[in-house]
Amino acid sequence: MARLPKLAVFDLDYTLWPFWVDTHVEPPFHKSSDEIVRDRRGQTIRLYPEVPEILERLRDLGVLVAAASRTGEIEGATQLLELFDLGRHFVHQEIYPGSKVTHFERLQLKTGIPFSQMIFFDDENRNIVDVSKLGVTCIYVQNGMSLQTLTQGLETFAKVSKAGP
Ligand SMILES: [Mg+2]
Repeated sequence: MARLPKLAVFDLDYTLWPFWVDTHVEPPFHKSSDEIVRDRRGQTIRLYPEVPEILERLRDLGVLVAAASRTGEIEGATQLLELFDLGRHFVHQEIYPGSKVTHFERLQLKTGIPFSQMIFFDDENRNIVDVSKLGVTCIYVQNGMSLQTLTQGLETFAKVSKAGP
């Protein structure tokens, strides 16, 4: 059985959904009776399609999930997580501007999980560079999260932790 991380952390913009919540869409958001999430202008808002299944798979594997976003649109991002019914999957949501080193230091304090037992998915190289230095296994996301990216990430984690002490 491959070694699994204890915590999987996800960026939001261009990792879980295909837009920047602070510029491309307009809060507040709402869900109509047709179950579709829309912004203030009526523009339809979607996740990358495999995101709900990705979070369910991690739950089934017993891996905790958290969010780390540096957006300034904290309220809108939090609202979207609830409207998409994702909030229940996240043990912590660290959403505020600045280097993600802060987000991870707080996650480490709140969960007690060491950085070496975390995996992080993000579409921006600057975040990958910063968080890698902490000892977190970082996975660069292209074209949004998919089940394939999750599987490859978990394989990378298993290899890295096997090679470690
Ligand atoms: Mg992003």
